[in-house]
Amino acid sequence: MADTAPPSEAFQPLGNEIRTRVLAALLEADGPVTLSFSELAEASGADTTAGFAYHLRQLTDHYLRETEAGYTLTDAGIRIARAIESGVYTESVDRDPVEIKDPCPFCADHALVATATDNTVTMRCQSCERKLLRLPFPPSGHRTHSEEAFPDALDRLYRHRVSLMSAGSCPECGGKTSAHIGYANADDAETTDPDRVQLHLDCAGCGYTLDCPVTLAVLDHPAVVSFYHAHDEDVRDRPIWNVGQEWRETVLSDDPWCVSVTTEIDEEELELLVGRDGTVVSVFER
Ligand SMILES: [Zn+2]
Ligand SMILES: [Zn+2]
Repeated sequence: MADTAPPSEAFQPLGNEIRTRVLAALLEADGPVTLSFSELAEASGADTTAGFAYHLRQLTDHYLRETEAGYTLTDAGIRIARAIESGVYTESVDRDPVEIKDPCPFCADHALVATATDNTVTMRCQSCERKLLRLPFPPSGHRTHSEEAFPDALDRLYRHRVSLMSAGSCPECGGKTSAHIGYANADDAETTDPDRVQLHLDCAGCGYTLDCPVTLAVLDHPAVVSFYHAHDEDVRDRPIWNVGQEWRETVLSDDPWCVSVTTEIDEEELELLVGRDGTVVSVFER
C-alpha cells in the first residue's frame, strides 16, 4: 500500500540552497505550479546548466515529478515547500506581552497577558499569577496575524484542533486519534490541582498529543450550540481560555469515567454527561 523511503535518504537532498529554492519556486502564492528547466534554473539562481541538471536529479522523483510541461511538486515536495515557506523548521519567534481583552477565569480581573518564547505561547494572569495555557503557535501564525488578531487566531486554531481530534482525525497528519479522560498530570504544578480532570487526545499516526479541559470538547456539541443560540448568545465568541463563569465540571465517577459538564443561562441549566472517551452520552435541560 505504501512506498516508503528511509528518512535519511529522503531528507539528504534538501541540504542545498539551490534545491530548496527550486522547491520554493514551484510553490507560488496561489499553490503549486509547473515550471520548465530554464524557468527553474533562473528562479533558483543556478550558475551552470550542468550543475543545475545534477541538482534537479537529486530532487526527482521524491520531491519533483518531470512531465512534458516541465517540473512539478510531488505530495512530499508540496509539504516540504510549504514548511520552508511557513518557517516552521527555521524560525523561532519571541513575542512581547500582549494584553488579552477577556477576564481571567479564576480571579475575573482583566489582567491576562500572552507572551511567546520559541513560537510557544504562554498565557498568564498578572493578578492571581496563574498560568492558563502553554501552546505552540507556528511562526507563520505569529508573522501573518497582527498583535490584536493573534489571540483570536490561536483560539480558533486550538478549538478546531480539539474538535477534530475528538472526532477522530489528527490536524497534523490526518491519522487516527483516540481520546480518554484522566486526572491531570502533576508535572505542571503551577496550573494543576490534583483533582482536575482533563481530556487527553493523541494520534496513532504522528504522536501528536493535546490535553484540554473536558468542557472544551463539548463546546461544539449541537445541544450546547443550540442552548446558547436560544439565549441569543454565540458560544463561538467564548475563547478557550475563558468559556464563561457559568460552566462547571464535576466528576461523578472515575471508574468508569463519567464527568458532568453544566452551563447555565437565565436560570436554565444544560447538563452533559461525558464518558471515558470524551463523547457526550446524555443531555439534560432543566
Ligand atoms: Zn487571575
Ligand atoms: Zn497525527
